Amino acid sequence: MRQKFVVGNWKMHTTVAEAEQLATAIVEGIGNEDRGRVAVCPPFPYLALVGEILKGSRVALGAQNLYPEAEGAFTGEVSPTMLLDLGCQYVILGHSERRHKLCESDLFINQKVRVALAAGLEVILCVGETLDQRNGDQAEAVLDRQLGHGLAGVSAQALARLSVAYEPVWAIGNIAHHATPQQAQDAHAIIRRRFGQLFDEESARALVIQYGGSVEPENAAALLSRPGVDGALVGGASLNAAAFLAIVRAG
Ligand code: 13P
Repeated sequence: MRQKFVVGNWKMHTTVAEAEQLATAIVEGIGNEDRGRVAVCPPFPYLALVGEILKGSRVALGAQNLYPEAEGAFTGEVSPTMLLDLGCQYVILGHSERRHKLCESDLFINQKVRVALAAGLEVILCVGETLDQRNGDQAEAVLDRQLGHGLAGVSAQALARLSVAYEPVWAIGNIAHHATPQQAQDAHAIIRRRFGQLFDEESARALVIQYGGSVEPENAAALLSRPGVDGALVGGASLNAAAFLAIVRAG
C-alpha cells in the first residue's frame, strides 16, 4: 500500500520571518496527526532555520535542487553533502522551472538523480509536458523520455528512495487550468507503466507518484482520491499554512 505524500515547494518565496512563521504554523497544525508523509522545501538560505523548527515533528525537510558533486570549485552551488548536513531528507530534481528557465538537460538531471540517491537523499523527480507537447500528442513521448533519461543508471536498490511528481507545465501556477482528476490519473498510469518497463512490475506498483500543478484545497480531494494519484507537490498553496494543511488532510 502506497502512503500519501504531500510536499510543499516554496520555490523562491518567503523572507526569514515568513519562513519561520509558515514552518511553525504547519508544524503546529499537523501536531500528532498521522497524515502520511509530509515535507516542505524552503529556499536554500532558510533550510537551517526551517530544519530547526521541523525537528521532532511529523514534517520532513527537503531542498529544491542540488549540484551533483560532493564539494569543489562550483561557485554558487549546493552539494548533497551540505543538504544532508542541514537535515534534508528529500530533494526535488528536474522541476520544469529548472528545465525550462535554467535550461537543465535530461543528462544533467540524471547526474543529479544518481548523485543524490548515492548520497542517501530521497529524490522527487519531476516530469511533465508543455501545452504544445500535449496538443501535439507528444505528452506520452515526453514522459517516456524524461523518465528513461532521468532514471538511467539508477539501481533497483535505490528505487525505494525515489518518487515521481507529474507536473504538467501548462497546469503550474494556473488555477484555471489544473489537470482534471482524470487527466492526472491517465498520466500517472502512463508513468507507472513506463516505470515498470524500465525496472519491474513490483517497483512500479510501489512507486509513489505525486501530482503537481495548481493543487488547492478546493481540488485536492478530487485529485488525491484517484487511483494512482499518491500525493501532491504543492507550489502556491503551500505558502499558506491553512491551505497546505487542508491539502494534507484531503489526502
Ligand atoms: P503551483 O501549485 O503553484 O501550481 O506549483 C506547482 C509546482 O510547480 C510545484 O512544484
